[in-house]
Amino acid sequence: MRSRLLSVLSLLLLLSLLLSGCGLLGEGGDTTGATTTAPVTTTAPATTTAPVTTAPTPGEAASPLEVPPYTGSPYAIVNHNVPFFDEDDLTVESYETFAPLDALGRCGVVMACIGTDLMPTEERGSIGMVKPSGWHTVKYDIVSSKYLYNRCHLIGFQLTGENANERNLITGTRYMNVDGMLPFEDMVAAYVKETGNHVLYRVTPVYTGDNLVANGVLIEAYSVEDEGDSIDGICFNVYIYNVQPGITIDYATGGSWLSTEAPPTAEEPDGEDTAGTAYVINTNTDKFHLEDCRYATSIKEENRAEFLGDRADLIAEGYTPCLTCKP
Ligand SMILES: [Zn+2]
Repeated sequence: MRSRLLSVLSLLLLLSLLLSGCGLLGEGGDTTGATTTAPVTTTAPATTTAPVTTAPTPGEAASPLEVPPYTGSPYAIVNHNVPFFDEDDLTVESYETFAPLDALGRCGVVMACIGTDLMPTEERGSIGMVKPSGWHTVKYDIVSSKYLYNRCHLIGFQLTGENANERNLITGTRYMNVDGMLPFEDMVAAYVKETGNHVLYRVTPVYTGDNLVANGVLIEAYSVEDEGDSIDGICFNVYIYNVQPGITIDYATGGSWLSTEAPPTAEEPDGEDTAGTAYVINTNTDKFHLEDCRYATSIKEENRAEFLGDRADLIAEGYTPCLTCKP
């Protein structure tokens, strides 16, 4: 009974959040929005680790720099879920822009007005040659698909077909990519396909100081033609945590270790950054492919993992080579 009441209450909270809708241009004044093309950086040291907890209620904050530490929800709601866009941003012409990499090789703000004309018509190709800032090829048994990091699209491939663009790929955890960002991307993609409308979309990686790995990303989205309609439209402003439950990340370098263990003392190379062959694994079928195999290019995002290394290692781990591309 108690939990029923609680879930009713949280539903009401969610509803009120949705119904309060997008007073996008209501205030007129400048907000603390992410409107520059530089990546957002904070000066406080990043000491956040990610305890695994239940009851993942999203936190709330006024700006991406004030989000509470991760406590189990892959995202937090920012600015009452209202994007920081202003009137000048509104357009029904599709476009996309990517900030140049900064001096540290980090991605900045990417922004797009997503319409059906930008959406990909071709299967995606290989991105294994892009090495985002802070990149490490590291594996943990507690991570689904084993690899801690994905080359994580800021604007998802399914939205604009932007694939091996170094200005659109950051070092992101599997958890941020699949549990955090993908549901929001899916929502936007479904809406655009269904309505033919446009969605204004901005993704801002948030870094602390000179860290090479982002603490998280801010995603803002607003459906233009229906003005972010609270029932049928798209309107959200969320911060997605770049964390992986059970693993502690050194955001300065991209180094990582199991949260149950002490951090490594010496600067140990993680061994797998050496060159090898790039393979694509289907974690659903446990088959592996060469990157340009037609079966590799059609693997769903949530089942897709990239591997750089030896074929023998993959076979030793129980993966089977594809019979078509014969990797
Ligand atoms: Zn294949």
